Amino acid sequence: MAPHRLLGGCRCGAVSLQVELSREPGSCHPRACDCDFCREREAAYVSDPAGRLRMRARSPADVRIERQGSLQAEFLSCQACGTLLVVRWQDGDRAYGAVNARALADRAAFGAEQPASPKQLGAGQKTERWKALWFADVGLDIG
Ligand SMILES: [Zn+2]
Repeated sequence: MAPHRLLGGCRCGAVSLQVELSREPGSCHPRACDCDFCREREAAYVSDPAGRLRMRARSPADVRIERQGSLQAEFLSCQACGTLLVVRWQDGDRAYGAVNARALADRAAFGAEQPASPKQLGAGQKTERWKALWFADVGLDIG
């Protein structure tokens, strides 16, 4: 099936997003994480293990990388405007990730948001969940 391509990015335009989903966006329900960090940044995550997630920035300095909570995952946001774009987890050579649906232009195409509470999971449970649910094809292109 042809992928469903969604575009987006941060508010100021310094960092752009391109997402390919293997299924209809309407069948994806963004997960609104209930941790303080994600609530403050109004994040709701979408991912697809059969899809693809690309970020593009002019320079590595445009992307702020933070860790919080259990410190396993990295939160990537725009250095200039602060829009939270992607959560990423590096497992050896492979990067897994999920995109903040609210940073995508077509966010209205998604199904209803659902609450998620990953902070209740242990470290091993989290990484197992990310491997099963998140994009396994994640990249940051510079230039
Ligand atoms: Zn920005």
